[in-house]
Amino acid sequence: MNVFYTESDHGIQQQFYLEGQEARHAAKALRLREGDEVYATDGKGRRLKGTVTAISKQRVVASTTEIEEIPRPSPGITLAMGIIKKRDRLEFAVEKAVELGVSEIALFVSDHTIKTNVREDRLHNIVLSAVKQSLRVWLPQVNIYDALDNVLAEYNQHHKLMAHEKTTQSFQNKMRTEDELLLMVGPEGGFSDREVQLAGEAGSELVSLGKYRLRAETAAVTFLARILS
Ligand code: SAH
Repeated sequence: MNVFYTESDHGIQQQFYLEGQEARHAAKALRLREGDEVYATDGKGRRLKGTVTAISKQRVVASTTEIEEIPRPSPGITLAMGIIKKRDRLEFAVEKAVELGVSEIALFVSDHTIKTNVREDRLHNIVLSAVKQSLRVWLPQVNIYDALDNVLAEYNQHHKLMAHEKTTQSFQNKMRTEDELLLMVGPEGGFSDREVQLAGEAGSELVSLGKYRLRAETAAVTFLARILS
């Protein structure tokens, strides 16, 4: 099943639109025709079904036949990840995090982050495709922070777990599932002592993901898979 993304700001009770690359994909690659059924999500919890009434490469118009509203998954889980230098690895982590059901992603310039540019436009497209691919209906936000300090301040109400290879504390028994969670993973060089201390002062627990040292993106996927599956 193909699910498209539609902007819902104009209201979707009567009809919804696929625009830009969504319209191109529907019209060119999938060759949708007038009268065809089409499925979409607005990324804000709505799953839509409609019938195509007009189609061009710029815009597909569908008349809405069904709207299903799905509550935001609770408790929300945020992945905070130190920005890593290899863009494809960072993008992999973001894609898998969305597939696994993360609610928000906070990328931060860690003390050990090697200076690099994050392509937010590419990340947005990756998040969008992963949402559609995994048939999710909530689009996770990706926000970028200058330092872990700002992430901890933003998520100060969350229960915080920091993945750290120097602890033996396994987290499985300590999960309090009713809490919103902030999961922190360091960049290639790991967290600095300053960051570990800061996280501790903010009430974070250090947790192990096993006895072997994982790459940052593997750690992110493992962490989320253990909590979300
Ligand atoms: N500090 C290390 C490697 C960091 S690995 C060094 O440079 O030698 C990148 C991140 O993945 C770490 O900061 C940590 O958050 C996470 N990580 C990797 N292996 C882990 C493990 N076994 N347990 C918990 N976290 C781990």
